[in-house]
Amino acid sequence: GRKPFISGNWKLNPQTRDEAVKLAADIAATVTPESPDADVALFVPYVFIEAAQKSAGDRLFVGAEGVCPEIKGAFTGAVSATMLKSLGVQWALAGHSERRVIFGESDEYINGQCLKLIEQGMSVMLCIGESEAEYEQNLAGPVCAVQLRKGLAGITAEQMSRVAIAYEPVWAIGTGKVATPEIAQSVHATCRGILRDMYGDAIADQTRILYGGSVTPESVDGLMAQPDIDGALVGGASLDAAKFGRIINFQT
Ligand code: 13P
Repeated sequence: GRKPFISGNWKLNPQTRDEAVKLAADIAATVTPESPDADVALFVPYVFIEAAQKSAGDRLFVGAEGVCPEIKGAFTGAVSATMLKSLGVQWALAGHSERRVIFGESDEYINGQCLKLIEQGMSVMLCIGESEAEYEQNLAGPVCAVQLRKGLAGITAEQMSRVAIAYEPVWAIGTGKVATPEIAQSVHATCRGILRDMYGDAIADQTRILYGGSVTPESVDGLMAQPDIDGALVGGASLDAAKFGRIINFQT
């Protein structure tokens, strides 16, 4: 079986170090011995990583919201996989739709981020998902297929144990319009089929595919009940420790 993976993406939200420290501690406190046996991660702004790590302790992973696909050199403003690794960071996001759309990151750039993280022995959560217009034209499957194939190019079957996929339909992000469990399950099954085609049965069956887009305490249990939904990537609700705690403690 695949170990569930509940993760939060803070984006540009906590504005101060104190706020980040308190939120990380309050969230970590919701992970108890009675919680589901799941990986829990918080993806936080670079500047708060060390403070959040200290505050959260070993109950969860503190990850980065991105990484530069270059390791060293004249890339002003960038943060490399080696820098993150030196802080003990294991996980980073790549390919979030906000990075694709607002910051213009291409599939090739995103693939470079994935490769650099993997080369450093780190793990990557590759985010994929169709826009609203693409959804309306029944293009969710084909769009995810292209994003998966291009994002994972050059990553070997052996390295796939350090990859998780987050399916985040753009129309569901920050809109309150969570995908129904049935819609999400159907795209997750399609994505697993693409992984099956790329890597074979064993890898397809071991790779975790998380759902993201307006996940709340009210919607998490129904999503997690679906056979191909292995976790959640949570934006807004990860900024509220009580809400995110309820998501971490999803009920099966
Ligand atoms: P919301 O949960 O706020 O819709 O954000 C989802 C997301 O983009 C997580 O990466």
